[in-house]
Amino acid sequence: MDIQVRKGDTLWYYAGLFNIPLPLLLDSNPGLSPETLQIGSPIQIPGWRTSTHIIEQGDTLWKLAGETRLSLDALFLLNPNADPGRLQVGDPLLIPERVTNRVVNGNRPYTYTALTGDLQALFKLYPFIRTSAIGQSVMGKELQELRIGRGNESVHWNGSFHANEWITTGVIMQFLNDYLLALTNKEPIRGMDVQPFYNRIRLSIVPMVDPDGVDLVLNGPPEGAFGETALSINEGSRDFSGWKANIRGVDLNNQFPAKWEVEAERKPKAPAFRDFPGYEPLSEPEAVAMAGLARQRNFSKMLAFHTQGEVIYWGYEGLEPPRSMTIVKEFNRVSGYEPIRFVDSYAGYKDWFIQDFRQPGFTVELGQGVNPLPLEQFDEIYQESIGIFLASLYM
Ligand SMILES: [Zn+2]
Repeated sequence: MDIQVRKGDTLWYYAGLFNIPLPLLLDSNPGLSPETLQIGSPIQIPGWRTSTHIIEQGDTLWKLAGETRLSLDALFLLNPNADPGRLQVGDPLLIPERVTNRVVNGNRPYTYTALTGDLQALFKLYPFIRTSAIGQSVMGKELQELRIGRGNESVHWNGSFHANEWITTGVIMQFLNDYLLALTNKEPIRGMDVQPFYNRIRLSIVPMVDPDGVDLVLNGPPEGAFGETALSINEGSRDFSGWKANIRGVDLNNQFPAKWEVEAERKPKAPAFRDFPGYEPLSEPEAVAMAGLARQRNFSKMLAFHTQGEVIYWGYEGLEPPRSMTIVKEFNRVSGYEPIRFVDSYAGYKDWFIQDFRQPGFTVELGQGVNPLPLEQFDEIYQESIGIFLASLYM
């Protein structure tokens, strides 16, 4: 919601008027110097939107303030030209409304278009979210990173490293929306006050690492050369439900320089719907973007969300730090998911992350069944994930 600064107003005053934590308000208005607000400058109020009320017979600002449980000054602020003594029947009046419901719907076939639409809705309501393009997919889709919070410690989540595990993106986006609602409305999640996380943690999220692959699974092959190639890799079948790779048949979670040669030796030697590690490590733009991000951001903790199995892989060659075990025990306690330290699998993002940064990295396998997991499981998976998301912020 946009308002305009009046004479004498301060950000502290707006934080109180709309009952919004000051850090969220400050971060929603970067480039503004809070000490010297200019009269008439636009200010964004996170977690609020406006609706239009058409003035009826008998309406007064006092009555409307009472009905909407807003302070009178909030109505004055939004309607600087309204004359409270003589409201005109039929005139529009802007009413500020606190946002208390999700705008994200994660429980649907979560294509790149669905993601983009939900992100736009979130950016509008929560302008303290920072966003940057960390690269582009093979087909040129922007790989977006979101950042929330202002702490020194950086925690990273990503989803849809594998195309037919797209449900992970919907789960992450839904939790993000719940986190934003809790922050702006000063409400707990599972009884936990999340306000301190905003000041302590810089949360980094790449919700969809393989957008071309996700769209291939959900929408079928695109027109043109990329679609043709994918079809031929898929041996002519238009059923892409088993497809884990990126659009040109490279498994992005087999692309990282952590014993990559072991996978190259025993996995497919040419593009395939799954498992082909590429002709060399980091040959694919999506993997390059994710490696660059980790190098740049100094993550103190990394969670890659996959499906399925209800297990959490947390080790790599014994290079993981001791606190990885403490953290994974907490993940297990809050979700019931089984921790697994070592597995005969290499060249994954988690493997490389642990190897190169010696920080806790996790591959979280959500849900149980055959990929792509059906949306009937969404609510259950979401409930199991909440505790893991939270624990990644407090552990
Ligand atoms: Zn996976």
